Order: sequence, then C-alpha cells, then structure tokens
Amino acid sequence: MDFSLTEEQKAVQETVRAFSREKIMPHARDWDVQGSFPRELIREMGELGFLGVPIPEAYGGSGMDYVAEAIVFEEVGYADSSVRTTLSVQMSLVELTILAWGTEEQKQYFLPKLCSGEWIGCFGLTEPEAGSDASNQQTVARKEGDEWVLNGQKVWISNGEWADVAIVFAQTEPGSRHRGMVAFLIETDRPGFEARTMHGKLGLRASNTGELFFTDMRVKDSERLCEIGEGFKVAMSALDNGRMGVASGCVGIAQHALDASVAYAQERETFDKPIANYQLVQALLADMHVETEAARMLVYKAAWVKNQGDKSTIPVSVAKYYSSEVAKRAADMAIQIHGGYGYSNEYAPERLWRDGRVASLYEGTSQIQQLIIGRHLTGVSAFE
Ligand SMILES: Cc1cc2nc3c(=O)[nH]c(=O)nc-3n(C[C@H](O)[C@H](O)[C@H](O)COP(=O)(O)OP(=O)(O)OC[C@H]3O[C@@H](n4cnc5c(N)ncnc54)[C@H](O)[C@@H]3O)c2cc1C
Repeated sequence: MDFSLTEEQKAVQETVRAFSREKIMPHARDWDVQGSFPRELIREMGELGFLGVPIPEAYGGSGMDYVAEAIVFEEVGYADSSVRTTLSVQMSLVELTILAWGTEEQKQYFLPKLCSGEWIGCFGLTEPEAGSDASNQQTVARKEGDEWVLNGQKVWISNGEWADVAIVFAQTEPGSRHRGMVAFLIETDRPGFEARTMHGKLGLRASNTGELFFTDMRVKDSERLCEIGEGFKVAMSALDNGRMGVASGCVGIAQHALDASVAYAQERETFDKPIANYQLVQALLADMHVETEAARMLVYKAAWVKNQGDKSTIPVSVAKYYSSEVAKRAADMAIQIHGGYGYSNEYAPERLWRDGRVASLYEGTSQIQQLIIGRHLTGVSAFE
C-alpha cells in the first residue's frame, strides 16, 4: 500500500494551495460579510484547470484522477467553503453528470464552457417537498409534441441565480415517484425560467443559493439527459460524485481549524505561559489532528475506488458522513481554543463553524448517509 501522492497530484496540491491562500483566503471574511464573491474568480480557476480536473482533455478538462479532484476541493475548502461549494457543484454535480449521462453533442457543447468557467452550472433536485425524499418531485414535465412543458419550483439550489445551465429533475407521471422521474439539461436564459437568490443563511454566505421557478417553460426533447424513469438514477449517481466534493472540502475546513488553533495556542498566553503548554488544550489539538487525518484517508480511499472505476456509493457515503461531522467538531474545538476571540469574525473559526454546519445537511443529511450505510450492512432498506 502506497500512501504517497504522485508527482502530478503533488503539483496540483502546490498550485491550488498557492492560489487559494493568495487569491481566496485573504478575502473570505469580506466575501462572507458581503454575501458574494467575484464571479471573475471562476474564470481564473477555469484558466488554471481547476474546474475540469477529472474531465477528459477532449472536452476541455484536465484529464486527471479523483485524488487530484479531492485535493483541489480540500485546498479550496481550506480557504473558503463558499467558493468550494460553487466549484463542487460545477465540477462534481454538473460536469461529471453530463460526462456520464449526456449525449456526445451535449458533452461537446456544455463541457468546454463549464471547464473554462465561461459558464456556471447548477443542479436542481431539491424542492419544498422533496429534500431527503428526492423522488417526491412535484415539478411536472408534460409532453406536448416533441417538446416538454415544465412547471414547478426548486429550492436551495447552489449557483442558482448565477447558473447559465441547469440540470433539472422533474416528474412525468405525477405520483409515480422514481418510475416517472426524468432529468433535463437546460440553458437558463429562456422564457419560463426564473431564479431568485435566497437570503438569511447561517453560513456559506458568499455562495449563491437560489430558488428556481418554471412557469410553462418549453424544453425540447433533445434537452433530456436520460430516458424517462432514469431521473432518480441520474440524481443518485451525481450525488456519488457530489458527496466527494463535500467530504474533501470538509477535510479542508478541519485542517484550517487545526492549523489556526495550533498557531493561536502557541501565541496566546494565560498564567504566564502559552496555552499550548496545557494538556487539556493539547488534547483538543490531538483529537482534531487524528480526526482530520482519518477523514482525509476516507476521502482518498473513496477517490481511489472511483479511480478503479468501481461503484463508489458506500465509500463515498462513509467519507461524506464522517468528514462532515469532523468539520463541525474541529471548527467547534477551534472556537474553544480561541476562547472569546473564537466567537468573533476577526478569526477564522467562527466562519469555519458556520460554513461547516451545512455539510451534514446538503447532498444527503448525515441521517441519510447512516441509512445508506445501514442498508449496505443489513441488506434492509429503511427508505421503503
Ligand atoms: C446551503 C445549501 C445548499 C444546497 N444546495 C443544493 C443544490 O445545489 N441542489 C439541490 O438539489 N439541493 C441543494 N440543497 C438542498 C439539500 O440537499 C437538502 O436541504 C437536503 O437534502 C435535506 O433536505 P430537506 O432540507 O428537505 O430536509 P428533510 O428531508 O425535510 O429532512 C429534515 C430532517 O429529517 C431527517 N430525515 C428525513 N428523512 C429521514 C429518514 N428517512 N430517516 C431519518 N431521518 C430522516 C433529515 O436527516 C433531517 O434531519 C442545499 C441546501 C443548503 C442548505
């Protein structure tokens, strides 16, 4: 067993780390306060090849493996989870889904634009009545000749108002759940489509989160991404990729929380000594280190399984469940180590804590990951 990174993976780590620490991290607090980050950053990351890491070069990507992809998410997530979320949705949920399910024409048309950052994509699965229960889609696609007419609403859609292209899930036979589900790949500058930014989030404030509205939106049959009845499969396969992004980003949050805490513990003095001298503080640091390392190993293991081309649902679910819980704990311990200052946005832990909180909610809550893992262990599905 070889735990070392390849030369290519090391080079990716070095490049993305340097970019993130210089161009993202110094601005993360201001972007959090402003509730947005410059869209131009996406173009810059596209030019550097960060947006299409596992996409073949023939479609404008970098043609690298899933460990390299995990490294990109960890490094960007270390600097700012809002930017990492934008990137994860673009690369894991949108590009990889088009790569797996799109026609050759769809791949050639959409992937280069997404990999370069010229276009931004979003993934529209969640609805007011369909979150964990994703097959309960109320957005209806009605067939009229060789067109579809879409009516419905999506909520909590990352990149929603920024997106040039959206993967949208809908129901073709109301009440039929998985059996009638379909996915479309839609350009958003069209009549019948509207996106509105959602406000008031606890964290991830610089990431655009939107509601999407479809009002008699006419969609060509050629804009379908799959056969009728395959929509749920498309969604679940997309989440096998998306959850990798969340898990890797959480390793970045935990590592940032640890690094900030070690530095603070060496600098802050109480009772005439740096607090790093106290065993109770070292115990917190040790726990953060062990859990961060364990989370990273689970992420790399899941990435390795993906590199083999094997089914990755379980290792990805394990990595996502564990890493998102670790990110929350690490950010919380970092606040503890920073004392009162940890409660202020003058220091990073407060934002890490708020940003990390969403990771055990989106792309399947921790409870949903437990049910996926439980089903694998027992052979019994708690979803039915
Ligand atoms: C900032 C943000 C960004 C997001 N981005 C996107 C995006 O880009 N695209 C997208 O489609 N969605 C997105 N989401 C939506 C997200 O994936 C959902 O919020 C999530 O899947 C949970 O669904 P829900 O909010 O409806 O909660 P619910 O499904 O209503 O769950 C509520 C609670 O019940 C628990 N629960 C539900 N069912 C069960 C069960 N069977 N057993 C045990 N417990 C259960 C859940 O774990 C949770 O604790 C985003 C959400 C947020 C907050």
